[in-house]
Amino acid sequence: MWFEIFQDGTVFLMYGDKAIQKWDTEMQVAQLQKILDSSVANKFSFAPKDKPKPSLIATDELGDFAPNAPSTSAPLKPEVKWVASPNFSSRNGKRIKRIINHYTNVANLASTISWYQNSQSQISAHYIVDKNGTIYQMVEDADKAWHAPGENNDSIGIEHIAKAGERLAPKQEEATIALHKWLMVEYGISPDNVTGHRFTEHNRGKTDCPHSIFGVNTEQALRDWVKKNLG
Ligand SMILES: [Zn+2]
Repeated sequence: MWFEIFQDGTVFLMYGDKAIQKWDTEMQVAQLQKILDSSVANKFSFAPKDKPKPSLIATDELGDFAPNAPSTSAPLKPEVKWVASPNFSSRNGKRIKRIINHYTNVANLASTISWYQNSQSQISAHYIVDKNGTIYQMVEDADKAWHAPGENNDSIGIEHIAKAGERLAPKQEEATIALHKWLMVEYGISPDNVTGHRFTEHNRGKTDCPHSIFGVNTEQALRDWVKKNLG
């Protein structure tokens, strides 16, 4: 879920691209501010001036989903193992809008984790998905991980253990699909905004990442994988 703020002060609680709750008087907005803290600041977005306001949908259209109740139909965050990295910084108020996928180019999970835990490396990712489907989280979503130069403020970085030429292993693919699905609903990320390291503006021609984990080593293969698995 995330919050979209319109120029006149109307605030919508968004579930993916659907609006499920609205605050529109000064008093209501004051109440809203009270229930928020800095940990959800990255879930706000100011709507462009000419954007039409969404109409609210009934929460029963979302199955058992309700803003303050656990849902049985919304994707849940997959289980992660925390291995904190010191390599992160503030998003400087940028909302999460994209997922950038990577491959490690080494087969060894332990060496990847220790490299990301080394403050000298200046490298990290939010998540690492191992070949056996285990997901490690190293940086909070609300913070900026250092995975794709020039592209980190508004993105989540997901690493996949794989050597050059390898495709995602079956359990690894299952896990990363579940992780993507949850992130996309949680932060309102569209399939078009799921990409790979070397297809981002500041990294074209500078890396071969994510190589062939989504099929052949082309942007089209990644787009086809996203369409097939993430709609
Ligand atoms: Zn990469």
